[in-house]
Amino acid sequence: MFCPSCGQSNPDEAKFCGKCGAAITAAAAPKPVHVEPGAKDTGVVSQTMKTWMLVASIVLPVVGIVVGIVYLLDANPEKKEAGKLWLIVGIVAAVIWSALFGA
Ligand SMILES: [Zn+2]
Repeated sequence: MFCPSCGQSNPDEAKFCGKCGAAITAAAAPKPVHVEPGAKDTGVVSQTMKTWMLVASIVLPVVGIVVGIVYLLDANPEKKEAGKLWLIVGIVAAVIWSALFGA
């Protein structure tokens, strides 16, 4: 370990620094920071998830309803069907959004 006084590298079992003679105690050494496995990762992931949920919850209802209406107004029956789907997705997303952030 390193001497807390002068920074000299000493054997781990050394009680005193070989260079300056300062006492080397376990307490003087920087304590290894105990990190819960995955604790930091979980925080990052949940933060990323929250951001994505926020973006999705704002973008999905708007995009879903707008695309749904546009497609529903289209003469193409396949697009009409897709428009219904988009509209449902948009409305469901809007309901979820209001449940999450509206209350
Ligand atoms: Zn020293």
